[in-house]
Amino acid sequence: MFILSENPPAIPVAPQQRSPSSSLLVVYPPVAHNTTASQIFLIGSAPAAGEVLVNGQRIRRNTTGNFSPSFPLVMGENKFVVQYSGQSKTVVVVRTSAQPELPIDGFAKDSLYPNVPIARLPGELICLSAIAPPNSKVTARLGQQSLTLVPGANTMTLADNLSVLTGKLDAQAVTGKYQACTQLSQPSSQNTTLGAPIYELKLPDGRSVRETAKGTIDILDPARLTTVEVTASPGVARTGSDTEFARLTPLPQGVRDRVTGKDGIWQRLSYGGWIKEAETKVVSRSGVPVESLVSGVTSRLVSDWTELRIPLQTPVPITVNQTDRTVHLTLHHTISQAGIQRLVNNPTISHVTWQQITPTQMQYTLHLKTNQAWGYKTRYEGNLLVLSLKNPPVLASNLKGIKILLDPGHGSSEDLGAVGNGGIPEKDVTIAVSKLLRDRLTKRGATVIMTREGDDDIGPNERAQLIAKVEPTIALSIHYNALPDAGDAEKTQGVSAFWYHPQSQSLAQFLHDYVTQTLDRKSDNVFWNNLALARPTVTPSVLIELGYMINPEEYTWITDPVQQNKLADTLADGIEAWLRSR
Ligand SMILES: [Zn+2]
Repeated sequence: MFILSENPPAIPVAPQQRSPSSSLLVVYPPVAHNTTASQIFLIGSAPAAGEVLVNGQRIRRNTTGNFSPSFPLVMGENKFVVQYSGQSKTVVVVRTSAQPELPIDGFAKDSLYPNVPIARLPGELICLSAIAPPNSKVTARLGQQSLTLVPGANTMTLADNLSVLTGKLDAQAVTGKYQACTQLSQPSSQNTTLGAPIYELKLPDGRSVRETAKGTIDILDPARLTTVEVTASPGVARTGSDTEFARLTPLPQGVRDRVTGKDGIWQRLSYGGWIKEAETKVVSRSGVPVESLVSGVTSRLVSDWTELRIPLQTPVPITVNQTDRTVHLTLHHTISQAGIQRLVNNPTISHVTWQQITPTQMQYTLHLKTNQAWGYKTRYEGNLLVLSLKNPPVLASNLKGIKILLDPGHGSSEDLGAVGNGGIPEKDVTIAVSKLLRDRLTKRGATVIMTREGDDDIGPNERAQLIAKVEPTIALSIHYNALPDAGDAEKTQGVSAFWYHPQSQSLAQFLHDYVTQTLDRKSDNVFWNNLALARPTVTPSVLIELGYMINPEEYTWITDPVQQNKLADTLADGIEAWLRSR
């Protein structure tokens, strides 16, 4: 089960009491459970001999006694009585609607835009919106303006990210949303705020409700924008003002840019990315744009890295974009003067080309000598931008000199991961298999670093930071899978691997293929996914899910010590084979 660093565990699986092996065990769902799914699976086990009944019906089990049947859910309360040999357990699942209920006699709670203070440039559109009962009349006052809001005919909300795993990706219609847009005018010198919009609702029965939005709307003066500097290392830049939005290339500490918009705690920088206010500090209110010329470029070798060193007039925002055999480095707010490049003799970069891709964006393309990139990192030293590329490892007859980081997923009673049919949690299997794999890799000469040796509670970002610090040759995060409630635990099996940067794709695909083919395991696909443990840039970094904890057959295989040893052999062989193939 994987965890997106910004969100709580996506697929919570709560264990019930561990029981002796002679008894009936229901590990999921918990005794009382709420869900919006249209079906639910019951995960558990009982001794192989005899029958398990759910609400009087016999259910399918595998040869070791595990079961994971799914049952449809009606809206409201659903009661499941699970029986085995005189023992009985009752589970109550309450199904609620996935759609928020429409308000009857007022605005839906927190539905008036904006909910937080916002700021925009003159000329931008501001769209006011509110959720109200059908057939109402909704108006709003914004400064001197009065707007009539109309029902949104085709507003849709996308299915959440996890729907990719269940295949149910249809967009859902949003009902009850009323909208109207207006263009912001130039602020006057006295008045740069429009205040909070005041909404008025006339219900079909004639009653009316008036409510003020929580957030105010400010208009920024384009000649007096604030310049901020990134203080976080690195700053997290996104495509929008919420952690739901995609990540852009992290901004190295020291980057400067002007603020062209605000949404609560988020700031929009002039180059386009959004960053939290807390990750920056104000350095100027002069309104002077952040701009740089670029001319000569130098380079040097520093231990395992080849560094490209680009002197700038000011630390501008950057974007790094990898392809199979190139690294593109885009400098925003930058104009080229095409000076001389000095590229040292190095094992990684063949040559560097450049292009002025827009009047204000300059792009370097680093052409690599091999078709495998081994990691990159960026930093500012004052106004000097340094892009470092990891040099390819040199392989001996064994794995001497190779540094491998293993990350056993989850840990501690706070973070069990998925709990399998027989009650064993994912965290116990990931550490067992990781230790077996560590011993094999160490025997082959590799240096192995583990994110945890014991039953420790370590967050995904902390683990990723260790990867950035250690700079291993490769990093592998080991997990076992589970499903959201709507999934089919009885039928879903297989190994999956996740990569994020192109430099990690080959390793993800190779290990997935190697394990599925060598051990004749089912495939559950190779995914691109923005996971904390796939996100480090300093090394090819892969997260692998080695089977489903909640599938009756796979749970038996996953928890069998003989099979765990075979799996560790196969992973060690696979890692070495991939390193040699590169
Ligand atoms: Zn996991």
